[in-house]
Amino acid sequence: DEPRYPWRGLMVDPARHFIPVKDLEKFVDLMAYYKFNKLQIHLTDDQGWRLPVPGYPKLKSISSKRKESMRNGTPHEGMYTKQELKDLVEYCAARGIEVIPEIDVPGHNQALAAAYPEFFCFPNPDTKVKTDEGVTLHLICPHKPEVWEFYAAVFKELKDIFPSGIVHLGGDEAPLEKTWAQCPLSIRYREQKGMKDVHEELKEFIKKMSSMLAVHGKRIQLWYEKPWAKANIYSKGDAVFTWRMGQTPSTITETKKQGLSLIIAAGEHCYLDYPQIPGQNNRGWMPTTTLEQSYKLDPAFGKPEKEANHIIGVQGTVWGEHLPALDHILYRTYPRACAIAEAGWSPMNARSWENFRRKLADHRQFILKRFNYDMERTKENEPPFK
Ligand SMILES: [Zn+2]
Repeated sequence: DEPRYPWRGLMVDPARHFIPVKDLEKFVDLMAYYKFNKLQIHLTDDQGWRLPVPGYPKLKSISSKRKESMRNGTPHEGMYTKQELKDLVEYCAARGIEVIPEIDVPGHNQALAAAYPEFFCFPNPDTKVKTDEGVTLHLICPHKPEVWEFYAAVFKELKDIFPSGIVHLGGDEAPLEKTWAQCPLSIRYREQKGMKDVHEELKEFIKKMSSMLAVHGKRIQLWYEKPWAKANIYSKGDAVFTWRMGQTPSTITETKKQGLSLIIAAGEHCYLDYPQIPGQNNRGWMPTTTLEQSYKLDPAFGKPEKEANHIIGVQGTVWGEHLPALDHILYRTYPRACAIAEAGWSPMNARSWENFRRKLADHRQFILKRFNYDMERTKENEPPFK
């Protein structure tokens, strides 16, 4: 018995709703039981910043707090300490799990903009930490020296806390046309350098971030974005995640050509914050992703070995906009994470939905008992649909 893929991950999102380390440890216990070996921790986003960085006190006093969540009127806040994160790393290592920190750049940074508006192309001192979901225009400006000083300090902290050789830099959903394309500093820079468009600037930005991390012995990962790939911003050997619904088969082909490693987090199978039962809260837009739909994941999407041998694994992503507490996180993550775990471990010819369903009856009891977990109560307490 050995795994089909070396990378079998889950991602948690304390940026959207803070998850105390003691809760993360419970999440990790179950991960380890199902032989997941990578925990990606999404530490920063528009709705919150959770990594303390020496010299930047406003990350805690401003970026880690918001006045409410999804119009519920209730203030929310949370910040890890360096020691807590180190403890988490140690707890995970003892269970065979590597922790990969994610610092999202250049976008998804409204929480940072609330504290340090001067890092952005069009500083607005009235910026507040975002209280609802959606993509924003808060992209850091690559032409301000203080931005690079800040990220040097961030990366130094990551080096101190996380022994992993990987930092996930996000790189998703960054509306460049409405930001960098119109930034006077960017415009002047592109003219000086003879750059034909904003993608060339982005490529240079990613390379610079990457080389700063290389100094600490770390490589980058990114969420794959097709328009950026077309502009050739990814470097041979980088690892990227496929995530957008329906794009994975073509992404497998494209990334093979570009010499990238690929991790499968296909939205239609691996987004574990989506409802899994018809009628469950879908926030008005999420597709229902049943257990069977998650189970159907073949990470290679049926492609022959020679076209798919750059796939290094699978990852379930548990986005946190609508998951305010551990009960809700577990309620959405399981049992679908069991399906993702099997997709990462077993070759397709050893898998069957009927067999999986039969096995799962016992696992259901195990999961419920292990966490003294009241599924009905959690279901009732799901945040109200708005
Ligand atoms: Zn700018």
